[in-house]
Amino acid sequence: MSVATVASRALAGIDAPEVTVEVHLGPGLPAFHIVGLPDAEVREARDRVRAALNHTRFEFPARRITVNLAPAELPKDSSRFDLPIALGILAASGQLALEPFVGHEFAGELSLTGELRPVRGALAMALSARQVGRAFVLPYDNAPQAALAEGARIFPARTLLEVVAHLAGEVPLEQFSAEARAGSPLYPDFVDVKGQQQVKRALEVAAAGAHSVLMIGPPGTGKSMLAARFPGILPQMSEVEALEVAAIHSVSNSGFDVQRWRERPFRAPHHSASGPALVGGGNLPRPGEISLAHQGVLFLDELPEFDRDVLEALREPMESGRVSIARAARQAQFPARFQFLAAMNPCPCGHCGDRAGRCRCTPERIARYRGRISGPLADRIDIKLEVPAPREAELVAPVAGESSDAIKKRVEKAREAQMRRQGKPNALLGTREIDRHCATDREGDQLLRHALARLLLSARAYHRVLRVARSIADLAGNTAIAAEHIAEAIQYRRLDASF
Ligand SMILES: [Zn+2]
Repeated sequence: MSVATVASRALAGIDAPEVTVEVHLGPGLPAFHIVGLPDAEVREARDRVRAALNHTRFEFPARRITVNLAPAELPKDSSRFDLPIALGILAASGQLALEPFVGHEFAGELSLTGELRPVRGALAMALSARQVGRAFVLPYDNAPQAALAEGARIFPARTLLEVVAHLAGEVPLEQFSAEARAGSPLYPDFVDVKGQQQVKRALEVAAAGAHSVLMIGPPGTGKSMLAARFPGILPQMSEVEALEVAAIHSVSNSGFDVQRWRERPFRAPHHSASGPALVGGGNLPRPGEISLAHQGVLFLDELPEFDRDVLEALREPMESGRVSIARAARQAQFPARFQFLAAMNPCPCGHCGDRAGRCRCTPERIARYRGRISGPLADRIDIKLEVPAPREAELVAPVAGESSDAIKKRVEKAREAQMRRQGKPNALLGTREIDRHCATDREGDQLLRHALARLLLSARAYHRVLRVARSIADLAGNTAIAAEHIAEAIQYRRLDASF
């Protein structure tokens, strides 16, 4: 009996655990079995591999072929194994030497004529191959994404024949190197936003400390326009963060767009989004919106219109920065460290509080509307803001707003101070870390205690005020938190009483 083993990788969440493809050729009637894949997928894989081998110059062995994918319990999004299975058959039947396989990993779907088609999760696989020091042979279309793993040895191929020629030492594949990736991400710029000084200030504070924000204002005040500009003032992503983002997107249905490398994601799902769409799910678990927003922004417009259970499902990931999805026997974990941004109208009709008195909503209706956002969720939002209708004078004023780049510079400086002091943004400070890093002066302390009593703030809210005040002090370049910083942070909790 002849045996060949070929290294490949499965996809579990954003990890790419190793899979060994073993091919046995034995005596007996010609047959082709694949162990370790669901039946329906086995049939398709067999057809593709057989056709691809027959179409090229190789012989499909008329023997008893058994392919075993180990370990057995991994999820196997199966078409990726076409290439390693075909190579294993060639090696086991003596049409290709086995030694060149050492130090290589393979993945790729085969067309019936032997061309290589792209597979999902190329970056995740490349990162894992790099870790064990193996070269990675994969379809050409996957190369730009795989090459984002700097230092990985990527050998893209267009056909099965090219891979065989490489392994046989006839025509080596060329190692792929990523071209210099240029370009700063393109978000709309705050320079176009006239007026709304207080809102812009609050968003700057939120960006500096990674705080969550809820904007409340009538329709037409530009809440979503402001939100869309928010990622443009967030600090530059590190390479590690960018790789995480790319890895998550590369296993999603829409895939990862290499053009968006190092761009912070901005996700704005519609309020009709289902639980699985938002938090993730599926038989082969896929990341949901909260994971696609990892290291970026999750913006929920018309917050009270979202299904209440869906909103409640956000609470846990908002604290932990990750989400676990369990489906039958399969479980996957995805990171979900997103910055939460939300917007809502002040009342069902949207005009509560306006000067023209257009609102006819009863206090009960307004209370019910706001009550759709549970207390615990509202409590977790650091900054709550009123976004007023802009005054006419502001709209016609010829002065442009400040540019996103100018704001971003201040934000980055404040964030650097946080990383030096405590290794994380202020929003993520634990209770004990707050004691250590958020000391206030006497006047600030008195102000805070007074506000707690007057606004009936919870203990949780007390800590949130301190975290936000820390960010305000960091923007000001202050080591200590002063009364004025506390005062501004309290402003952002004024609306707490209406939830
Ligand atoms: Zn109303």
